[in-house]
Amino acid sequence: MQVTWQADQVELVVRPCLSLCQWVPTRADEDLFACQGCGSQWRPGAGWTPVDADGHVPAEVRHALLTSVRPAAGAGRADSSTTTGS
Ligand SMILES: [Zn+2]
Repeated sequence: MQVTWQADQVELVVRPCLSLCQWVPTRADEDLFACQGCGSQWRPGAGWTPVDADGHVPAEVRHALLTSVRPAAGAGRADSSTTTGS
């Protein structure tokens, strides 16, 4: 039994998204981010956080998360720091 190496196939490298991911804000919509690696799109409120190939959350993404409008879950407790517990 002999294994024949097929160089053409061996050189077919499918790069995983993780090695390419780089999230950048799009020009069209400052709340919309796009992954330069796999073409995914993300915007604040999507329920997950995009991470670059190096494992860090891009500064632009963190900024977007901080400044994005939050869901209505906290409505009525806008200023929780003054809660007196009546
Ligand atoms: Zn990606």
